[in-house]
Amino acid sequence: MYEDCRRMGHAWEQIGDAPLGRELVERDVWLRCTRCTMLRAFDISPTGETMWPRYFPPDGYYYQGRQGGAPKKSDYRIAWLRDIIASRKSHRA
Ligand SMILES: [Zn+2]
Repeated sequence: MYEDCRRMGHAWEQIGDAPLGRELVERDVWLRCTRCTMLRAFDISPTGETMWPRYFPPDGYYYQGRQGGAPKKSDYRIAWLRDIIASRKSHRA
């Protein structure tokens, strides 16, 4: 679950308003991932920089209490590549 997003990043789409239960600040922009439903909000400064990024993950997205912290995106990509190579080898056999 969530492997595509962990490996490749999120597929953001802009949503028009703050989701239910979230406060809307005047300059807020809200995005939602089309795959995992992660929410992301940020403000845009007068010079066009993004400011105050906030993330609201779906349940179970972040690892809790894993020793050594959460795996990195590169860890997911390497595991994915190994699966692809193993799958190609099994198809040839
Ligand atoms: Zn996502």
